[in-house]
Amino acid sequence: MELTVASHVGFCFGVRRAVAEAEKLLDAGKTVRTLGPVIHNPQIVESLAARGARVVSSPEEVEPGATALIRAHGVGRAVIEALEARGVEVADATCPFVKRIHALADEAAASGMRVLVVGAKDHPEVRGILGWARGRGLAIETEEEAEAAPGGGKALVVAQTTVTPERFERVCAVLKRRGMDLDIRNTICQTTPVRQREAVEIAQKVDVMLVIGGKNSSNTRRLYELCRAICPRTYLAETAREIQNIKISPRDHIGITAGASTPDGTFKEVVARMNDIKNQEQEELQQETVAEPDFAAEYEKTLVQLRPGQTVTGKVVQITEDEVCVNVGYKADGLVKKSDLSTPDVKIDDEIEVEVVKVNDGEGNVLLSQRNIVNRKVWDAIVAAYESGEIVKGVGKESVKGGLIADVMGIRAFIPASLLSLRYVEKIDEFVGQEMDLKIIEIDKSKKRVVASRKAVLQAEEEAKKAEAWEKLAEGEIVKGIVRRLTTFGAFVDIGGVDGLVHVSDLAWKRVGHPSEVVSVGQEIDVKIIKLDKERDRISLSYKATQPKLWDIAGEKYIPGTVVSGKVVRIVPYGAFVELEPGLDGMVHISQCAPTRIEKVEDAVNVGDEIRVKILSVDTEAKRISLSIKEALADDALESVSEDEFAIPEAPEAAEAPEAPEA
Ligand code: SF4
Repeated sequence: MELTVASHVGFCFGVRRAVAEAEKLLDAGKTVRTLGPVIHNPQIVESLAARGARVVSSPEEVEPGATALIRAHGVGRAVIEALEARGVEVADATCPFVKRIHALADEAAASGMRVLVVGAKDHPEVRGILGWARGRGLAIETEEEAEAAPGGGKALVVAQTTVTPERFERVCAVLKRRGMDLDIRNTICQTTPVRQREAVEIAQKVDVMLVIGGKNSSNTRRLYELCRAICPRTYLAETAREIQNIKISPRDHIGITAGASTPDGTFKEVVARMNDIKNQEQEELQQETVAEPDFAAEYEKTLVQLRPGQTVTGKVVQITEDEVCVNVGYKADGLVKKSDLSTPDVKIDDEIEVEVVKVNDGEGNVLLSQRNIVNRKVWDAIVAAYESGEIVKGVGKESVKGGLIADVMGIRAFIPASLLSLRYVEKIDEFVGQEMDLKIIEIDKSKKRVVASRKAVLQAEEEAKKAEAWEKLAEGEIVKGIVRRLTTFGAFVDIGGVDGLVHVSDLAWKRVGHPSEVVSVGQEIDVKIIKLDKERDRISLSYKATQPKLWDIAGEKYIPGTVVSGKVVRIVPYGAFVELEPGLDGMVHISQCAPTRIEKVEDAVNVGDEIRVKILSVDTEAKRISLSIKEALADDALESVSEDEFAIPEAPEAAEAPEAPEA
């Protein structure tokens, strides 16, 4: 014998709340009166009545001082006002899904709209909805009634929560065809269609279908009708006792479902009874060898076992203003408050992952949270990032004393000011709103505290850049660089992620007092890599090595016979050294210092004198330039003599000879 048990069985969310509320009031010693049976299940109603919860049919029957319990179907505004006017305490257990329809009706009617309720006009729920429509409501059960409904003006159309979607669509189609101005809201509770769909699916594959529930419950009867249409051996049973009369063979595949008002106890009892029947038949068939499974145990196994903190996947079966109802395969549906949802656009039939907060919230519902899972996942990700050293993204949120608060995956992380940058940060505010890469450097799991560092990321980036740059460098290479910093001993040059030093002596071929005489900060220059010391992280560079040596070009620049200017920089007994340009000196021998013979060099020149000298010879190999003041003076003297002084006077013209006297 095979058994298939529906997972969507037992009290629906609204009924469970109402029954729990009744029990709570009775536990608190209240005199409870329920406006109509709290549930379509005589056994439960009887057990509540046995504890003092009497069923009444009008507010007038409730004695002052008692507590009137409004059941899940809800009531109209006038009923509540009448109860309050009698001094009756009202305990409103109206299902939130129904309450939402009340609010829609009330709002629409207040704005002058008519309210059309698709449903049975005598159903207590429909009467309750009409009771919020301020006299502008009308119940429409059939397409004929929709044809006959008065037109004119805008109308809100809502559905009784248990009406079938097909009926709702048919009635709406008629209203639309009539050209009415409609605001249609499908307020059908998904609990019923979900159960019906599942029941039909089971009925399609079994030999016997058992529908358990109150015979006066419309939704149980509907389940029965749907299953019966597919599986002829469908039976409706209110209690386990009724099952024993059903003929079931050991080879039958049996399906079991239950209406929304069927208590868990009754359902379990039916399953247990099935077990008895099976055992009995087993004995009859004398099947001794193979032990078949215990149905009760099998059923229990089909139910999900829950514990707080557990993560489960469930299907969204209903959505209200404040809550989402999720079926997690447990005997009771779970509720997620909207504030605990991390996907606010969740839809009916969506599968979502939720965490069990409480197995029983006091009203028999399972309290769930989606946000807890997200938070836990985020925290797990933060811990993983901390342990692996992975870089995470963060956005600066606010500057606080001593640092910055950043949002990392939705969690607040503190970044001390000293860890915000590689250098001192003056204005922490500048980081607010800025996205940055961060490394988690400290976490306190119990306090959920996170400390992060941006500096660590920047340092790592710099290290990586350095390593990459080092890989590319080779001694003897000439590379481009940017002068970053000048000191008295040289210039620091960035050669693509790493800084090298050009010592002051390597800046130029001439003697340099301070690096600023040769280069300036920000200047791009070519430098030669002289030495790489990876151990000590030092790179020696030379700028002068990329510049031509003075002596290499001296031969082309200083031509013997030309006169140039220079400065006397040093005097020795045999002559004077004259600087032709920084780093390039020539020598005037004492014999060439003056036009006439002198005793000592100082008789002609002194250190610091700016003088003109004639190039006598240039020996680039020996790095010698011979100069002459004497010859320069002579050349100058020659040039100063006017051309007239050198002109050869023309011969005087010969005088005309006197004519000779005649003889
Ligand atoms: Fe609420 Fe739906 Fe149950 Fe009706 S069937 S009481 S609307 S949960």
